Amino acid sequence: MASVLVFIDVPGLPLPRASRELLTIARGLGDPVVASPRALEDDVAEALGNCGVAAVYEPEQALPDVLVAAKAAFLADTVRASEPAAVLLGNSFEDREVAARTGVKLGSGVITDAVAVAPDLSVTKSVLAGSYTSTCRVQNGIPIITVKANSVEPESAPVPAVPQRHRIAVSDAGPAARVTGRTEKRVSGRPELSEARVIVAGGRGMDGDFSPVEDLADVLGGAVGASRAATDAGWIEHSAQVGQTGKTVSPQLYISAGISGAIQQKAGMQTAKVIVAVNKDPDAPVFEIADFGIVGDVFSVLPQATEEIKKRRS
Ligand code: FAD
Repeated sequence: MASVLVFIDVPGLPLPRASRELLTIARGLGDPVVASPRALEDDVAEALGNCGVAAVYEPEQALPDVLVAAKAAFLADTVRASEPAAVLLGNSFEDREVAARTGVKLGSGVITDAVAVAPDLSVTKSVLAGSYTSTCRVQNGIPIITVKANSVEPESAPVPAVPQRHRIAVSDAGPAARVTGRTEKRVSGRPELSEARVIVAGGRGMDGDFSPVEDLADVLGGAVGASRAATDAGWIEHSAQVGQTGKTVSPQLYISAGISGAIQQKAGMQTAKVIVAVNKDPDAPVFEIADFGIVGDVFSVLPQATEEIKKRRS
C-alpha cells in the first residue's frame, strides 16, 4: 500500500486531537508516515506508532529559526525521499503556508480547507462562504492537502506499529525571514480557536464587554471567537476573529452572540455542526443559518445559559 505523509509539528504528549484526526484520514488512504520538523522524544514516536504510523522522518539537524521556510524545505526533502501518494497537513495559517511553499518547491498542486479526502484522493471542501460543497483533485505532482480540524472523529489504529526513524538532510531553506526575538503569548487555558470543538463568539452586540462570552466559553470548555467589528473595536485580540479575513473554524458547536451574520462572518463558521445564535433583532441574517435561534439580549441570555450549565454540572 502507498504511504501517506502527514506533516505534524508535535511539541510533546498527548498528541493533539487535530494530529490524530489527520492520522485517521491518512489510514483510510494508505500507510501513514509522519514528517516531524523537530526531533521527537521516544514516547512521542511510540504514541505515533499507536496511531499506526510506520515511519517517522525527522531533520538530521535542528532547523534554523527562519519561520516556516525551513519547515517547507524539510517537508519537500522528505517528500522526495519517501515518495508518498499524498501529503496531509493541518489547516492553520502556518500549516497552509508550509503547504504552499512545499507545493512550489515540488511543482505539486495544493488544496486547502479540505473537510474530507476520498481514497481516490479527491477532496471535498466547502466554498463560496460555505454555500457550496465542491469536489476537486490535484492534477500535478503529489497532492498536498490541508485539512480543517474536526473533520473526522479520531480513531485508534487497529494494529499499532513501531515506527522506523529516518533522518533527512535538509537543503537550504532559501530566502527567509530570520526570527530575532520572541515574547511569550499570554496563556488563556482555552483551546486553540481553529481546533476547538466549542466556540462562543461575540460581536458588536457585546458593546465592549466580552465577559459573558468568556464565562460561557469557560463552562463549555470552549474557545472565544469574535466578529471583525469586535476585534476592530479592540474589545478582544485580532487572533480571535472568525471569518473571511479571520480564522475559518468548523467546531461541533458555534454560539454566535450579538453578531449580525454578515457574509464575511459566515464564511468562517458556516461549516460548524450546530450553530446557536443569540441576537435581539429577529431579522438578523445569522438566523438564516442557525440551527437554534434565541431572540433576546446577550447580557440576559448568556449569563442564564452559563448559570444553568453550571447548575446541571454540579
Ligand atoms: P453588526 O453587523 O453591527 O451586528 C451587531 C449585531 O448585534 C446586530 O445584529 C444587533 O441586532 C445585535 N445586537 C446588538 N446589541 C445586542 C444585544 N444587547 N443583545 C443581542 N444582540 C444584540 N467580519 C467578520 O466577522 N469576520 C471577517 O473575517 C470579516 N472580514 C471582512 C472582510 C471584508 C473585505 C469586509 C468588507 C468585511 C469583513 N467583515 C468581517 C466585516 C463584516 O462585513 C461585518 O461588518 C461584521 O461581521 C459585523 O460584525 P457584527 O456582526 O459584530 O456587527
